[in-house]
Amino acid sequence: MPTPKNGAPRRAGGNNYIIVIFDSCRYDTLVQARPKTIRKLGKLERRFSYASWTAPSHYNLLMGLLPHSTPRHVFASEYYKKDFLKYSERLAVEGIEFKSLIPKLYFPAFLKEGLGYRTHAMVSLPVLNPKTILNHGFDSFRLMPKHNDMRAMLRELRFSEAAPSFYLLNTGETHYPYALPAEPEENWPRISGVHGVFKHLDDHIVGGKLKKAKGDRFFNDAQMKMLRARQVDAVKYLDRVIEELFDLVPKNTWITLTSDHGELFGEDGYFGHGPINHEKVFEVPFIEGKIR
Ligand SMILES: [Zn+2]
Repeated sequence: MPTPKNGAPRRAGGNNYIIVIFDSCRYDTLVQARPKTIRKLGKLERRFSYASWTAPSHYNLLMGLLPHSTPRHVFASEYYKKDFLKYSERLAVEGIEFKSLIPKLYFPAFLKEGLGYRTHAMVSLPVLNPKTILNHGFDSFRLMPKHNDMRAMLRELRFSEAAPSFYLLNTGETHYPYALPAEPEENWPRISGVHGVFKHLDDHIVGGKLKKAKGDRFFNDAQMKMLRARQVDAVKYLDRVIEELFDLVPKNTWITLTSDHGELFGEDGYFGHGPINHEKVFEVPFIEGKIR
């Protein structure tokens, strides 16, 4: 196991590391889907995102701060310290601390420059595109052609013998409109009167377009139930994709699977995520482990 010196690791780490983000996936959606393969990773935890929508949430997790357990009676600095110790196990590199990331405080840069990782991102939501500030410290950073096709990412995964690899995989099957790649676009649920909403996948939650919709101003209860069921189905589908991921990664690979935020399906009058202050928009699934 390589050891970083004085908080500034220089040698190549051990494990490949993959963070899988099921965009917008609620904790209870994952529970309800009862995934067979995902559960094999480890213990499913109910955690909380630091942010209520995609861009700030990904910035936060790329600082190395994964969804938190909302601990009581503890200082934030102590929690960060403890949370970071876990990276030694994930990467099989001793002595990783929050201060290892100083001054950039950005995990891909630390992995690449400090530990010699090959660093890659494949993302599905346009707000995470490669021109954004999130693309720092990556050898490659791609916005995928479809917002909802994790299987297409698996075909692009490459692992080097010479150095360990880091991948951020952000996938949108679980994002509104909860569509699987084979489902024709004309069958997707549609907000009445809103056009082009799917071209701007995160606009519907930041641009106030729901209020401008003609006809139905908001989803009714039956539609909310249908949308929620579609997110559950998306997780069931993704469980099979995750099985394929497990089969193709090298043995020394650590996988963390979580979400960037939750989603509201009508609770207290809310739909979606973003400008919403509600427990269900911060509550996310968190599960991780090493592929053996
Ligand atoms: Zn998101």
